[in-house]
Amino acid sequence: MKYTSPRGTRDILPEESFVWRQTVNKIINILENYNFSEIQTPIFESADLFQRAVGDTTDIVEKEMYIFKDKGERMMALRPEGTASVVRAYLQNYTHFQKKKVTKLFYNGPMFRYERPQTGRYRQFHQIGVEAIGSSSPFLDAETMVMGTQIFQELGLKDVNIAIHSVGCDVCRPVIKEKIKSYVESILPNLCEDCVSRYERNPLRILDCKNPNCQTFFAGMPDMNSALCKECNDHFLGVINHLEESEIKYNVDSHLVRGLDYYTKTVFEIRSDLLGAQNAICGGGRYDNLIAELGGRKTPAFGFAIGIDRLYMVLNELGLTKEIQKQTKFLIIGLGVKGQEIAFKTVLILRKRSISAEMFYKDNSINDGLKEALLLKVQYAVIIGEDEIDAQSYTVKNLKEKKQFTVNSLEELISIDN
Ligand code: AMP
Repeated sequence: MKYTSPRGTRDILPEESFVWRQTVNKIINILENYNFSEIQTPIFESADLFQRAVGDTTDIVEKEMYIFKDKGERMMALRPEGTASVVRAYLQNYTHFQKKKVTKLFYNGPMFRYERPQTGRYRQFHQIGVEAIGSSSPFLDAETMVMGTQIFQELGLKDVNIAIHSVGCDVCRPVIKEKIKSYVESILPNLCEDCVSRYERNPLRILDCKNPNCQTFFAGMPDMNSALCKECNDHFLGVINHLEESEIKYNVDSHLVRGLDYYTKTVFEIRSDLLGAQNAICGGGRYDNLIAELGGRKTPAFGFAIGIDRLYMVLNELGLTKEIQKQTKFLIIGLGVKGQEIAFKTVLILRKRSISAEMFYKDNSINDGLKEALLLKVQYAVIIGEDEIDAQSYTVKNLKEKKQFTVNSLEELISIDN
């Protein structure tokens, strides 16, 4: 094979694409019921935007961005995530959004990170994400997480669980950082180079280290909740309270920090045990400083992103993708020149009447036509041979029920099962 897709990318073949689109449509329906509207932003932005928003000491910015210089010598990056772009678009189109107290937006599309590819981890992957901008209410955190859970439940995933935590704010984050530093000091010689470099620069990031050896040393890490300031603690308790009221299952994971620096207060992940090491299918949290950091007024916000590639893997694992299949209703098999002509006219009329139909283009083999019908998994194979041409009729084979019958007009054909 001379050309293959770049490492870490893949082709999404028709069967998966079909399930994918149905799944995305279902998700979008739910998002719209929660009053989110779609925004589409460019796939590349100024690299600086992500450096600023996601954080210089994160894996994403330090190692994983696809950066290039364009012909105007500008440093651009393929977007590694959606929030920075949505916030940039929110600020750039501020007059459009400013009247509403809360703006709820969703996006849907590919993201790019130069990661080490493995099952469930790609260099081009797809996310549907939401951003609710303008409220600091813990109801917003809870409601958005409830929406995330509802999405997975409605898609048939019963085993998902929410891990939730608070990473504090400008007031208590320094205390949390100190707490982590004083614990990490004693284990530092055992940790990887990245952890060592983050010890000074951004100790919270140490918890996000993916190195399995480092992970074993984090077990005794002190619980950060006790370091939260009153406001963050009250907020966290409020969120938990509302989750309880919504009867959502959750667990507090005191090691959860997420791989992006913009989070404040609530962070969460929705996980599926079916995914192995890369078990998060959705991640997000509150980001009350980001909008100001990118040049806007201080505006609280909450968002999450669902990884569609991983979601598909879980649906597949559960056998749920089999239920979602594209179905063409008719394959029309016409024999000889005349049969092919009638087949051609018939499929055109069926399609105009919004009935899915395909023509078999070989004019001399009913058997080959029937084999094709089985491959296409059509409901009905329709044969137009000499007898049918003479009688102006159609022989119809119901492939599932293995029954054959004759219809005497196009209208009769159209009305089958209707
Ligand atoms: P993040 O943007 O890192 O908060 O991730 C949100 C979700 O996107 C994760 O829970 C994953 O489902 C998905 N995701 C993130 N990175 C990748 C990747 N490299 N490959 C596939 N899915 C990913």
